[in-house]
Amino acid sequence: PGRVGILGGGQLARMLALAGAPLGLRFLVLDSAEEACAAQLVPQLRADYDDAAALAEFAASVDVATFDFENVPAAAAEWLAGRIPVHPGPRALAVAQDRLAEKSLFRELGIPVPAFEAVDSREALDAALARVGAPAILKTRRFGYDGKGQFRLRSAADADAAWAALGGPSAALILEGFVRFDRELSVVAVRARDGEFRAWPLSQNWHEDGILAATLAPAPAGAEIEALALGHARRLADALDYVGVFALELFQCGDALLANEMAPRVHNSGHWTIEGAETSQFENHLRAVLGLPLGDTRARGHACMLNWIGALPDRQPVLAEAGGHWHDYGKSARAGRKVGHATLRADDLEALADALERVGRALGRQPQVAPVIACLRGG
Ligand code: ATP
Ligand code: MG
Ligand code: MG
Repeated sequence: PGRVGILGGGQLARMLALAGAPLGLRFLVLDSAEEACAAQLVPQLRADYDDAAALAEFAASVDVATFDFENVPAAAAEWLAGRIPVHPGPRALAVAQDRLAEKSLFRELGIPVPAFEAVDSREALDAALARVGAPAILKTRRFGYDGKGQFRLRSAADADAAWAALGGPSAALILEGFVRFDRELSVVAVRARDGEFRAWPLSQNWHEDGILAATLAPAPAGAEIEALALGHARRLADALDYVGVFALELFQCGDALLANEMAPRVHNSGHWTIEGAETSQFENHLRAVLGLPLGDTRARGHACMLNWIGALPDRQPVLAEAGGHWHDYGKSARAGRKVGHATLRADDLEALADALERVGRALGRQPQVAPVIACLRGG
């Protein structure tokens, strides 16, 4: 079997296609967008996910289906799973689509989470605030990404504003305690069809305005934190009988880890693995969904991924670096949109910090690189 169908045709599908080419794979993306960026490289079936005729054509054209986008309607995923192998399966997708189901499962599995309460009315918001306390974050249970669909409450006095922003008659929300974390980490891991589990070294992540700005990997982490994080990821993957790559986002507070969310797909905080690991998340995802042996997840030196949001900067300063790598997703510029990323890779921490300094200065992006450099230099 060599034809992989991907639901969603964004940059993740594009990078899956790039990783799959050397394996001899062919791809088909299903996406309703006129300019799905993966369609610059592979064929696109242009239709909505709930278009029955399109789904039937998709199922007939591919050997296995996977996702670039987790908010595919559950019914569509289930319909497909009745006809062809779909990895990850509909249950994993359903859990990851709903922050309430997701956090409830984490808790059930003994994975610590921030305080949370379901909110579906203005009164329920007050009750939740009383239990969770302030500051807090109100989030839509579904469809949020890049920090969209969230409202931060500094105190209970912000409840009206929060409800005005996200509430309504059919509101399905979750209130979470605001975590004053020391840092954000993610586990990017892969589970094979036979249950074999592998994880890449931990990623440390920095966000700007709710959007991932930079990832450093391997994260400078103690062996205990790493083991704790990988244990959580493994328990989650086993519980969902998960197949493929996923990410588990964590907040570190002292020696404790609190789980924020999971992404049932390859993840932005794993883009560094393309150049920074023996096998990339994209290749291992394909290996997993096709039932091929998993590749080694060990890091090659140290890597920092910088996200380009809105528009691409000049690529020259990155390409001038010995370990500089450029990824242009072929998207048009738009505020808040992920249009590309760069990865800087080096054999030692000091060389990576120096490269980041040069690139940050040349591009006028010092605020984006500064926290990573401080972390590398032990600041
Ligand atoms: P993603 O693009 O990662 O899918 P998302 O829209 O699903 O983002 P979250 O990951 O829940 O949103 O939140 C985005 C960021 O906001 C987090 O990475 C973190 O920096 C901050 N954040 C979210 N929830 C909390 C919380 N309970 N306490 C403190 N900070 C939070
Ligand atoms: Mg998310
Ligand atoms: Mg997140």
